Amino acid sequence: MKMMDCKDVTRLMSERYERTLSLRERLSLKVHTAMCIGCTNYGRHMDVLRKAMARLREGKTSDER
Ligand SMILES: [Zn+2]
Repeated sequence: MKMMDCKDVTRLMSERYERTLSLRERLSLKVHTAMCIGCTNYGRHMDVLRKAMARLREGKTSDER
């Protein structure tokens, strides 16, 4: 199995919101982020960003009740 580099990993991280990743892709992501702090942080950042965007789209903000 070919090892993914950081470029492949960050691309997959944004693609996983638009499509379902294959088992192999998900596994490669897991293996890579286990060794790479840069991509781990990138993934967390993406997650926070996506959630904030989703909240905005729903028309709710956290400080509004
Ligand atoms: Zn990486």
